[in-house]
Amino acid sequence: MRIIVDRDRCVGHGICESIVPEVFEVLDEGYVHIHEDAIADADEAALTDAVNGCPSAALSIEP
Ligand code: SF4
Repeated sequence: MRIIVDRDRCVGHGICESIVPEVFEVLDEGYVHIHEDAIADADEAALTDAVNGCPSAALSIEP
């Protein structure tokens, strides 16, 4: 599974980070970085919640 960020949409308010902080990290530059190596160990339902919970629709999941 991969998580894709649309940096043009991400505004960096960090809802995703608050749900799965080991995978999502808002950088000082104002957009989120995905820790790809942490995805496999993360709770899949929480990842889905984070992706669907982004108010900017900046996140998507690739199987
Ligand atoms: S919730 Fe969406 S807009 Fe906010 S930091 Fe995460 S990806 Fe970016």
